[in-house]
Parts: sequence; structure tokens; C-alpha cells
Amino acid sequence: MQQTVVVAGGGIGGLSAALGLATKGFAVTVLEQASKLGEIGAGIQIGPNAFHALDYLGVGDAARQRAVFIDRLIMMDSLSGEQVANIPVDQPFRQYFGNPYAVIHRGDLHGVLLDACRRHASVEIVTRQSVRKYEQTDDRIKVKTSSGKIYAADALVGADGLHSCIRQQLVGDGAPRVSGHVAYRALMPFDKMPQDLRWNAATLWAGPKTHIVHYPLKGWEVFNIVCVFHDETRTEPAANEPGSSQEVLQRFAQVCAKPRSILEALSDWRYWVLCDREPIARWIDGRVALLGDAAHPMLQYFAQGACQAMEDAVCLAHKVHTRGGDIKLGLLDYQNERVVRTARVQISSRLIGDYLYHAEGVTRLVRNAMYGKRKADEWYSSLKWLYGGTGLDSTV
Ligand SMILES: Cc1cc2nc3c(=O)[nH]c(=O)nc-3n(C[C@H](O)[C@H](O)[C@H](O)COP(=O)(O)OP(=O)(O)OC[C@H]3O[C@@H](n4cnc5c(N)ncnc54)[C@H](O)[C@@H]3O)c2cc1C
Repeated sequence: MQQTVVVAGGGIGGLSAALGLATKGFAVTVLEQASKLGEIGAGIQIGPNAFHALDYLGVGDAARQRAVFIDRLIMMDSLSGEQVANIPVDQPFRQYFGNPYAVIHRGDLHGVLLDACRRHASVEIVTRQSVRKYEQTDDRIKVKTSSGKIYAADALVGADGLHSCIRQQLVGDGAPRVSGHVAYRALMPFDKMPQDLRWNAATLWAGPKTHIVHYPLKGWEVFNIVCVFHDETRTEPAANEPGSSQEVLQRFAQVCAKPRSILEALSDWRYWVLCDREPIARWIDGRVALLGDAAHPMLQYFAQGACQAMEDAVCLAHKVHTRGGDIKLGLLDYQNERVVRTARVQISSRLIGDYLYHAEGVTRLVRNAMYGKRKADEWYSSLKWLYGGTGLDSTV
């Protein structure tokens, strides 16, 4: 008989898990609390490791069609305007890692996964169902939603994001850690983007306790703009709140004219108070597993939260399949495979935020001296642990 899985959450992680499991023969029900599935209007960077996962899920080409293939990742010093680092992600990079580095609108990436789920006969997506808790016996699980519905299945995947209620039942580690870092986001129409900054690159202007990111999206119709600063007074998580351009200009008053010209051209901002959690070693409870931000929420400095969620999905589907349908053993293998790798990305994301992107004083000078002279092949070998992974091996 076909085994069944409930996935809590229809974000990038949940839909990837649903697709992966359906491909392996499971019947999957995705329960999403929102009335409509979708993603926020912003961009996302996806490394070669995410393309490996998308290829495994059978949607790599559909994602490639909607992506912009940038040719460099560059870091600039936002005080002096000098270039700090230049990582070419052109043909030699693609050959080295077996896949490109690209940027894509979140709605497009989510849409590719959603279309594939909708086309798959073994995936059912139910909106307006907020998962509250689970109960399990040795061979079955019941998932309860706030509307009083009960879904019985063989397994539950908690892909319900940063504030996961499945995690609260499974781990019970309370609210996420508020980082004291705030991200403002906006989309800039191509024509409004300062002409001398219309680069085919993911550009990061690094400054003391601040940075600005920009890259082209949607066939160059718009640029994705993110700017981040430290604010210890914001002690509560926030997501997608209306922001103030006055605050942005004040926070970035010290940056040089070029990156500042981007901020001056924008008025329609949304902001997030960024959170993460300490890495944990236990993501499973019998027939229940956490995935994506529910398992390992991280600061976005490596641009890897969604990439790791897609890797999780591939690994989970692969492991339960390899165990011939023994779900508990498959989930255990999944946890054992993923914990160290994702914890490394969580920890490294904090470190590069503080010591690289937001460096000040002598740390800034060290950074500029260290990275300015690095050659492409040195970058590639230092990034192999991250972009070379498939989610199916133990490369950490
Ligand atoms: C500023 C910023 C920039 C980023 N940039 C990048 C980047 O460039 N590259 C990258 O890879 N990552 C990036 N990330 C991280 C990335 O956005 C997340 O890691 C990723 O979206 C997590 O996906 P998820 O599916 O695990 O969780 P979510 O996207 O949070 O999805 C969770 C889903 O579950 C639903 N849900 C929640 N609770 C319940 C419930 N009780 N019942 C049912 N449904 C529920 C939610 O409505 C949502 O649809 C960035 C994050 C930020 C904040």
C-alpha cells in the first residue's frame, strides 16, 4: 500500500519535500496555514548546491529558465568604494561545481516547485490549515490543525518555518534568537537603478555593522535591493513590515556616494528583524522530522537558508526510499546526514556577518588585505564544502 506523509508548510522547503517524496512513491498532503500559496516579492540567490537539488527534484531546467545568470559575486568596501573581493561565477565556476550560481525571484522559484507539485498525482495541497500538534503511535501519526481537522499518515515533516510549532513540540526551545540585525528590502525598476551600478553581479557593499546587496532579477526588469544594519533596540522578531526611507538614509549616512545613490532612489521599503537559532542535533521524533528553517534557521549571510532546505528535501526523500519504506530508519539517516552540514552553515553565517560583511576598524583592513588578492581557483576550493555538496553525501 502507498505510504502517506503530511508536510506542514508550503514554503520552498515544504514543497521541495513534497515533490521529492512523491517522486519516491509516497502520497503527500501539504498543509499550509495561508489562504494562498506564494512567496514575498524579493529575490533569492541560489548556489550550485541548490541546482543539484532542483535537478534531483526534476525542476532544474524550469528554474534555470527563470533565473538570471550573474557572472560575478563581488564585495565592495562601502566606505572607500574599493573592490574587496571578486569571485567569478562564469563558465569555469559552472564547470568546477557542475552547476551555475544564479539569482531568481522568490515567486518564480516557489512557482516552479508549486507547478510541479500540482502536476504530480500524489501531491495534495490544502490551504487554510494551520497545523497545531501531532500524536503518534508506533506505526501511525495524527496531525491536528487549528480548525479541528485530523490528518492521519505514516510520517510528518515539519517545514513550518522559523516559528515552527512542530519544532516547539519536538524540541521545545522557545522563540528564535533575535540577532539585532535588521534587513530592509525593495525592488528597483531597471530604469531607476543608477546606470553605473547596473552590474551583472551579486554585489555586496560591506561597511561597519552594515551592508547593501544588489543584483538583477526577472530578465533584468528589476534589481533586488537589500540593506542590513545592526539595531540592538529591536528585540522582537519582525517580517515584511513597512519601512522608512528616512531610517535607511540615516543608518547608511557614512557610506560613499555610489552605494548611497541606490538607497536615495528608493522609497518603498519592507523590513525584517533577522532571527536564527542555535544548531541542534535532534530533528526527529519517531515518525516526525523537521526540515528547512524549522530545523536550522540561519542568518542569510551565506544566502543558503532556502538552498539548505532544498538539500534537506532531497536527502530526506532519498533516505526514506533507500530504507525501503522504513520511515523511522529513513528519518534517522536523514538527520544524521544533515545535522553537521547545516550547523556549519548556520555557524558560518553568523561569523561572516560579523567578521566579514560588517567588519570595522582593523578587522576591516585585514579583510580587505586578505581577500583582494585571492584568485578564482582559491575561492573555488574554499567554497567547495558548500557549493560542491549534494545533500546526499557527508561532505561537510
Ligand atoms: C533577508 C533575507 C534574505 C535571504 N536570502 C536568501 C538567499 O539569497 N538564498 C537562500 O537560499 N536563502 C535566503 N534566505 C533564507 C530563506 O528565505 C529561508 O531559509 C527559506 O525561505 C526557508 O524556507 P522554509 O520552507 O523552510 O520556510 P518558510 O519559507 O518560512 O515556509 C514556511 C511555510 O510554512 C507555513 N506555516 C507556518 N506555520 C504553519 C503551521 N502551523 N501550519 C501550516 N503551515 C504553516 C508558512 O505560512 C510558510 O508558507 C533569506 C532570508 C532573509 C530573511
